Amino acid sequence: MARKNSNDIMDKIVSLCKRRGYIYPSSELYGGLTSCWDYGPLGAELKRNLKAYWWDAMTNRRDDIEGLDAAILMHPEVWRTSGHVDEFVDPMVDCKTCKMRYRADKLAESTCGKKPSKTPLECGGELTEARNFNLMFRTFMGPIEDSSSTVYLRPETAQGIYVNFLNVKNSSRQKIPFGIAQIGKAFRNEITPGNFIFRTREFEQMEMQYFVRPSEDDKWFEYWRQERWDWYESLGINVDKLRWHEHGNDELAHYAKKAFDIEYEYPFGWQELEGVHNRTDFDLDRHMEATGKDLRYYDEQRKEKFVPYIIETSAGCDRTILTILVDGYDETEVKGEKRVFLRLSPRIAPIKAAVFPLVKKDGMPEFAGKVYEELKKQFKVFYDESGAVGRRYARMDEAGTPYCLTIDGQTLEDETMTVRERDTMKQTRMKIAEAVDFLSEKVR
Ligand code: ATP
Repeated sequence: MARKNSNDIMDKIVSLCKRRGYIYPSSELYGGLTSCWDYGPLGAELKRNLKAYWWDAMTNRRDDIEGLDAAILMHPEVWRTSGHVDEFVDPMVDCKTCKMRYRADKLAESTCGKKPSKTPLECGGELTEARNFNLMFRTFMGPIEDSSSTVYLRPETAQGIYVNFLNVKNSSRQKIPFGIAQIGKAFRNEITPGNFIFRTREFEQMEMQYFVRPSEDDKWFEYWRQERWDWYESLGINVDKLRWHEHGNDELAHYAKKAFDIEYEYPFGWQELEGVHNRTDFDLDRHMEATGKDLRYYDEQRKEKFVPYIIETSAGCDRTILTILVDGYDETEVKGEKRVFLRLSPRIAPIKAAVFPLVKKDGMPEFAGKVYEELKKQFKVFYDESGAVGRRYARMDEAGTPYCLTIDGQTLEDETMTVRERDTMKQTRMKIAEAVDFLSEKVR
């Protein structure tokens, strides 16, 4: 039963995303491409806003973190050194009965191809022995396709940061502790992608690597756990649906001393949203060994040289978008009618406000047009004059727009308008001249 309900909600979200232009299946004209999705007009805006919100919190508002935008294609040796060529594998099993392929460590969360109400552990299908499958996408650089020209699409953005550690340190003159933040695409040839944009083969990561004195790793690890938790809270995510999961010894990656995931309770269960990892000196050590370059940090005051430890915060951008959509999706009955609300934080909502003339006459459209033109200079706003105002509110509620500003007869007399809030559906009157300050305060 739980499985059916969860599918119901996910189906509704997928259909809302398609209908309102948040997310479409990739190459839909050609029947789609498994696990690939395109962000439509509202989705592209939401994603831009989310990334900007993360970037702002992780770089602009801090003095100790620098930004970076490294190339997706890197020297192939980077991935040998990092351990990805040998160890970035998932165990895979095939079902001889339904011919489906599963991740051996996720069987309890997978769905049988023939009996969707059952997992592959329950359906009675015969599974093969697990074998390892490397998740890195490979391609060739230049015209000759052989092993000497093999390059990889990066499976994480972190390595781009490690190999630029010295560059950033020298050009920014940061002193430890300091961090490097990056947002960018990553690619993993996942065995079982799915749950809409939760697990895809092409996705974006928002990662920050914080370089610290080895003896201070535990302190900074706890600091970043708190910071990242607070960030989700500041986005308005329901904290009752967030929890920490500590990696046990059997789950810890080969490079990690300690790892905690922030998990969210999706309709399909508790799953990882972001990882906070203590990667020790593993990465810099390995790159130092492989290249012979000295990546140690020299502390001038203490006259000490050491390889910094790294505390990593690694979030999926698309997974955060899914979290925001799931968390904000709400069906409420309004005047006997079931209505959909997308309760997105004004900070990241694609459209910050809609501007309506109450009716299409008496100079209201012209007045509303002027308000719209003025607000457009600073915010993403939307003008709509078609249909009854109630329907226009409903369309905006479903699109996640937090405010609707309506120009009516009284506006023409005293230059006030109504401001209607999506979440309370309350309307208040406000001077038009105050609208910019009002929206600024809400969205920034
Ligand atoms: P999982 O156990 O779910 O495969 P992971 O532990 O391999 O994830 P990390 O390598 O820690 O994930 O990646 C950091 C973040 O990147 C994850 O918390 C997630 O938000 C995001 N991420 C990882 N893989 C994917 C994917 N295939 N699709 C979308 N987002 C992903």
